[in-house]
Amino acid sequence: MKETARKTLIRNGTVVAPQDVQQSDLLLDNGRIAAVGRGLAADDAAVIDASGKILLPGGIDVHTHVTLNPDTAAGDVYYTGTRAALMGGTTSIVEHLGFTPAGRSPTQQLALYAELAAGQAAADYGFHGLVQSSDADCVKNLETFAAQGVTTVKTYMTYAQHLDDAGLSAMLGHCRDLGLLTAVHAEDHQCVQNGIAACKAEKHGEPIWHARSRPPECEARAVARLLRLAAAAGDAPVYIVHLSTAAALAEIRKARQGGQKNIFVETCTQYLILAEDRYEDPVMGLRYIMSPPLRRHEDVEALWQGLAEGDIQTVATDHCAFSLADKNRGLGDFTRCPGGAPGIEERFALIFSEGVAKGRISLERFAELTASNPAKLMGLYPRKGALAPGSDADIVILDPHARRTVHAHDLHGSWDYSLYENMGVLCGIDAVFLRGCRVFDNGRFTGARGQGSFLRRDRFMEAR
Ligand code: MN
Ligand code: MN
Repeated sequence: MKETARKTLIRNGTVVAPQDVQQSDLLLDNGRIAAVGRGLAADDAAVIDASGKILLPGGIDVHTHVTLNPDTAAGDVYYTGTRAALMGGTTSIVEHLGFTPAGRSPTQQLALYAELAAGQAAADYGFHGLVQSSDADCVKNLETFAAQGVTTVKTYMTYAQHLDDAGLSAMLGHCRDLGLLTAVHAEDHQCVQNGIAACKAEKHGEPIWHARSRPPECEARAVARLLRLAAAAGDAPVYIVHLSTAAALAEIRKARQGGQKNIFVETCTQYLILAEDRYEDPVMGLRYIMSPPLRRHEDVEALWQGLAEGDIQTVATDHCAFSLADKNRGLGDFTRCPGGAPGIEERFALIFSEGVAKGRISLERFAELTASNPAKLMGLYPRKGALAPGSDADIVILDPHARRTVHAHDLHGSWDYSLYENMGVLCGIDAVFLRGCRVFDNGRFTGARGQGSFLRRDRFMEAR
């Protein structure tokens, strides 16, 4: 059932608009923002007093795996996953496709994902395309993605499905020519393989060895190689996903200082909050197994600095939820633990809390990192990611004075743990609107299954 958007006037909030932050009103009509300004009036609108609250563009999480495998996914996985997103202040996601089995093309894989999400997703959703081999069909697949409004395409530098330098170079060129943005998981495959082989040889199976098997060097080396290939392809646009290390960030700064253009960078909540000491517990440590792994405290600080100074453009989650039972398959052998962790619901409030409330980033930068930059890079701006007339009325009402603690049992997905259990949060989310519909009201989900729309995306715009 589709909810209808009521005409709503939100008054006296601190509005974080594209150009400034000020005390203002927002008028929502017909799913869009009709006006932004002081002293707005509308006789027939529901009125919300937002005094003391902050009004932000709805969060956009551009790195999710609500399902890793469309063939085994539960029927309502897109409902529970996007319900959790909405409850956390994220109104749109862009989902990555899982690797395709032999005999299925990436465009067929996209169709399967689209079918699963349609009629289920409660938040708006898009998909990244996928290229896992540079075969003869690669260009045809890219053209199909472009024609369907799928304007970012993911590729890998590790896992069995990774591209070699020649393949990556060809793909960067094809994407550049088609106006697509190439998203890359940058870890050096050989470096990772060597690390894992060394652990096996020494019989090191505890979770801490997951981090030691993929040292910062794996990421830095891959990023350096990727950026050289992109430069050689005429500064082909690249979007580096889930950046985790100071060493890789240094490579990015170096390339930009050398004049290379079109480099865009994402990091994720977990790399900004957690560090590799989480792996020290041989049982609890399994929960944090993901690639790239959590890093040292120095890396965490370097990433925050990168966000503040404009080196990193977006904060996503790489949300990929496994149950504790699944994670515990890695007891005594971390290579048997499925990589990934949930985080879609926690991102928005935690980044506000650790970033804005703790003085590491400004309120404006927070809105850029969580909403407007993802919207620009994904080809959704200014329809999404802006509190401006004409934009979709995707809005979060945030209370900067609220205090709470993260507990998995308070979250709204179908998973059974949080990476951030017992962490204090220096804000609260009071209400969330998706295209003018109130989908979260004081702790209650008021949205509907299937109200999310597929996001047909335009060519990417630059973001700082
Ligand atoms: Mn990845
Ligand atoms: Mn991922």
